[in-house]
Amino acid sequence: MPNNVKNTTFPGLFDLLAPHSCRGCGQIGHVLCNRCKNYILSNHKALCPHCKAPTKAGQCRHCKNLPPTFVIGERSGLLGDIVHDYKYRSIRSLARPLAELMYEILPPTDTPSVVVPLPTIERHIRSRGFDHTKLIAKHLANLQGPKCTTKPLLIRTKDTTQVGTNRTTRINQATSAYSVAPRTVINPNTTYILLDDVWTTGASMRACIEKLQQAGATQIIVALLSLSRIS
Ligand SMILES: [Zn+2]
Ligand SMILES: [Zn+2]
Repeated sequence: MPNNVKNTTFPGLFDLLAPHSCRGCGQIGHVLCNRCKNYILSNHKALCPHCKAPTKAGQCRHCKNLPPTFVIGERSGLLGDIVHDYKYRSIRSLARPLAELMYEILPPTDTPSVVVPLPTIERHIRSRGFDHTKLIAKHLANLQGPKCTTKPLLIRTKDTTQVGTNRTTRINQATSAYSVAPRTVINPNTTYILLDDVWTTGASMRACIEKLQQAGATQIIVALLSLSRIS
């Protein structure tokens, strides 16, 4: 962790006094300075979100049913703080640096690709004032270059949350909670980058992968900002 890290005990005061300072070290100018961004990238380990084994090119040798999956890091420390501040304190300016971090760990691609944000529950969008995954998807598509776009190809058919439910219930809920948006045309030669902010149980992501595959997607990669703390 870089020196001079902000005191997270007083985040409200910190925002008020220095809204455009680095969330990591307090340096004025950027909401995440290059030094703190590199610090997060230096802690990046290519891990499978499901079994936590190291991955090669995003692929886990144990979890062959998962598409290549890329995670910036564990949801703790500075990365945990910025994901939290972005999502729960609606600090929208963190969207760009989070997209930049994601871009850095994704493999380069020169084939057409579409960033597909996992759909957020409507009432969460209303309470936060924005769709946090969609905004990062926009920045990420922009960073990926002219052959990449973003489209909300998945929709929520139910506004369920996973809190307090057991694994089987979560999987069943997730499967019925998403569907492919009407009039979606899937191109088998396009890479679909499924984007979400956190992997907790993986139920939502697995359901979305399945829906896209059923609609005809053959090339999918999974992009996750963070992984629930490894216990
Ligand atoms: Zn910094
Ligand atoms: Zn695995």
